[in-house]
Amino acid sequence: MPDTLELVRQRLGELVALPSVSCVDPAHDMANVAVVDRLAEWFGAAGFAIGRQPVSRAPDKANLIARLGSGEGGLVLSGHTDTVPYDAAGWDSDPFELSERDGRWYGLGSADMKCFFPVVLAALEGFDASRLRRPLTLLATADEESSMAGARCLVDEGVPLGDYALIGEPTALVPIHKHKGIVIGRIEIVGRSGHSSEPALGINALDCMHDVIADLRAWRAAAAERFPDGDFKVPGPTLNLGRIEGGDSPNRICARCELLFDIRLVPALAIADAVGEIGDIVRRRCAEAGATGQLVLPMAPMPALETPADSRLVGMLEALSGNPARTVAFATEGPFFNALGCESVVFGPGDIAVAHQPNEYVEVARVARMIDILRTLIERMCCDD
Ligand SMILES: [Zn+2]
Repeated sequence: MPDTLELVRQRLGELVALPSVSCVDPAHDMANVAVVDRLAEWFGAAGFAIGRQPVSRAPDKANLIARLGSGEGGLVLSGHTDTVPYDAAGWDSDPFELSERDGRWYGLGSADMKCFFPVVLAALEGFDASRLRRPLTLLATADEESSMAGARCLVDEGVPLGDYALIGEPTALVPIHKHKGIVIGRIEIVGRSGHSSEPALGINALDCMHDVIADLRAWRAAAAERFPDGDFKVPGPTLNLGRIEGGDSPNRICARCELLFDIRLVPALAIADAVGEIGDIVRRRCAEAGATGQLVLPMAPMPALETPADSRLVGMLEALSGNPARTVAFATEGPFFNALGCESVVFGPGDIAVAHQPNEYVEVARVARMIDILRTLIERMCCDD
């Protein structure tokens, strides 16, 4: 397929050349509409009906929802339009100029995951849309790498997607049906300062945090026993104490203490339960100490993904790739699509091992295999009886 691959390379080059960094730090955050416009042009020309969904309060961020065929259900092919920020000094070539070396295409977002869109177009080359019995939906989301605002927006507006979703994130052609979720939390405790020689004059926030930490560690041990999950390398939820800050001087009672932590949730442990239980610990310990305290979530939590291992899409991708389905440690938009009634599987040609770092690349041979796999998948999911 030399001509097909050449067109994929050209289109990937065009997408890589359109910077679309998303970042929680506004200094690095960029628009994604230029990428969305280009995709709208290509998928429109391929016969798709184009829809755009503005995302959040940002005027320059949007999701693209493109549909081929009509009716309900069908297959969704989904990718994100944004990339992580980059460190130009670490690159051997311009991150925004696709370069080919040793059977690999190098460029920012090549693997994660701008290559997915030209791959979908290549899989549809010569496809006769009148053969569709169920619709094929192409979804291109905003802000996956930062807040997942694009996927959250789809859930908030209850946009119907389809029966199954393939998310073309870098998995080296291994189907991923399950991953952990993430809660990042900050515990803020406010006591009262006073002279260190008379502890009763104040309320020591550090002492109180010490008690909270003891309870968090007990919660962590209990959670690992309550929610064992042997599908993961670390077979249960984790809680990491990441950063603590408090007080100012050895001779003053510490009036304020803050702790940052991260929880990795297994699918059986709901975000609301974890947050509720940690919140109870903070309230109880602060009440005992006479301090005030709160649990703040500085970032919206990311849910865990669990698509049944016997889902039709999982089985099909296992058969087509020759790789058994697995779990991963990174979060995706999958749980949001599952919430919309889609059974989601993560499966793409890039490799997570080279994503989010200088000299990111995608192997051309994997791109070629992905095109073949998608062709068969579209036939079976959207055309067959
Ligand atoms: Zn990604």
